[in-house]
Amino acid sequence: MSTKQAIKEIHRELGEDSISTDDEDLKMHGYSEWSSINIDRLPVAVAFPNSTEEVAAIARVCHKYKVPMIPYSGGSSVEGHFSAPFGGISVDFLNMSDIVAFHPEDMDIVVQPSVSWMELNETIKSSGLFFPVDPGPPVCGSISVMDAEQLLITITQAKIGGMIATNCSGTNAVRYGTMKDWIVNLTIVLPDGRIIKTRKRPRKSSAGYNLNGLFTGSEGTLGFVTEATLKLASIPQKTGVGVATFPTMRDAANAATQIVRQGIPVGAVEILDDVQMDVINKMGATGRAWKELPTLFFKFSGTKVGVHDNIEDVRKIVYDNQGSDLEVEKDQAKQAVLWSARKEALWSMLCMRESGNEVWSTDVAVPLSRLPDLVEISKQDLENLGLFGSMLGHVGDGNFHETILFNGATERDLVSKCVHDMVHRAIEMEGTCTGEHGIGLGKKEFMEQEVGEGSLSVMRGIKLSLDPFWLMNPGKIFDPQEL
Ligand SMILES: Cc1cc2nc3c(=O)[nH]c(=O)nc-3n(C[C@H](O)[C@H](O)[C@H](O)COP(=O)(O)OP(=O)(O)OC[C@H]3O[C@@H](n4cnc5c(N)ncnc54)[C@H](O)[C@@H]3O)c2cc1C
Repeated sequence: MSTKQAIKEIHRELGEDSISTDDEDLKMHGYSEWSSINIDRLPVAVAFPNSTEEVAAIARVCHKYKVPMIPYSGGSSVEGHFSAPFGGISVDFLNMSDIVAFHPEDMDIVVQPSVSWMELNETIKSSGLFFPVDPGPPVCGSISVMDAEQLLITITQAKIGGMIATNCSGTNAVRYGTMKDWIVNLTIVLPDGRIIKTRKRPRKSSAGYNLNGLFTGSEGTLGFVTEATLKLASIPQKTGVGVATFPTMRDAANAATQIVRQGIPVGAVEILDDVQMDVINKMGATGRAWKELPTLFFKFSGTKVGVHDNIEDVRKIVYDNQGSDLEVEKDQAKQAVLWSARKEALWSMLCMRESGNEVWSTDVAVPLSRLPDLVEISKQDLENLGLFGSMLGHVGDGNFHETILFNGATERDLVSKCVHDMVHRAIEMEGTCTGEHGIGLGKKEFMEQEVGEGSLSVMRGIKLSLDPFWLMNPGKIFDPQEL
């Protein structure tokens, strides 16, 4: 009843097109094909605000009627982040996709939450600047692909609001850091409709609590991000993309960690296992046949001399770890094709699904020195599982992913055990249950083991002080103590 009244009131305050209860809209905002976890319940409505003030109006109404609110940007998150276990209203930022101000001289840009990182980079490329955080969805701009049954999969793109909320990263993180490192300030609508701005516009500040850090990674459980000022980096003078194969995943992981430990400033170092290389071959999108062996992809960037030296240093480490000759592409167009093999990896896996297949995609991260051990044991477990699964990851950060296809409840249980084993092992190695995807619904159960009850109770305290009625994206990251 109260949700119905809230919908009516939002409709009345913001106009006819501001809120939808269309079945397709509800499904799209409560379910996703690439999520490791989906639930039966959907949101009751989807609101489409046009401005910070409209988001505040929605929050005030939901606060008044005690209706859950679930922020939604690109919908590319993978742990059931935007699902609606308690119903409520999904708030989609679709109509808030403007670049509000660009300050090339200050190397920053002010954006609304529904700007995608790829659009952003396309728009500003002539300025010589770029935004370096690059979570998955595709680099070359295609937006739909066919799966094994020739069904169209529409590819979604990560957008700034969701990227902040998940503290995402991507292939460039080893060089440029993660989302939290690129935020100057945020405009936030709190669950009761108050609007705050975390900081002014300096590139650094020591003034008081770091509210940027509080809202970044909070997965929409503390407030809505309605505007963000982001730092930008200079487009490097020279780039190169390199590829090398290895006899085993351990050799590849050893090479990657040595490269990082020696301080060679690679732009990215990514690991893909033999299965993933096979999938890329089957998709045929890169126009060449790859060796189906553990493979490292590298990005090099910097000055002309620097890139040359880095390539030679990496070549030596690859060789010392039983790697093949390092193949390097310096032509920019061909680099994009080579790199797309890495960037399309998860979509390629999705395209391998046959009737009834679901996908479980997960990530963990460990201190660098533990990475070769974890990669080796996890690869063995994946092979023992007997299902179709691949490994890849941002190994330069000690972060890697598994993507496994399964069919039915029995196989889901097997995959779940395999993922649980990997996560527990990572935490025992002083690592984390997620290096970049976040907790959502899917990884809540690991929070206590990872951070301990003391830290969890501080998080609950922060949540209660900002959202006493537990209305913002309820059911994510952790539950109230009494549940
Ligand atoms: C093929 C593929 C590859 C991927 N590769 C990577 C990768 O390399 N690195 C990586 O980090 N992730 C990766 N991901 C995961 C995903 O892209 C990231 O988590 C991304 O940051 C999610 O952004 P989004 O806009 O899609 O967010 P959404 O899915 O819309 O939302 C994610 C979370 O943020 C909250 N939220 C959304 N908008 C707002 C807002 N304006 N204010 C407050 N909260 C908000 C939502 O409530 C939800 O909890 C990949 C996903 C796919 C499908």
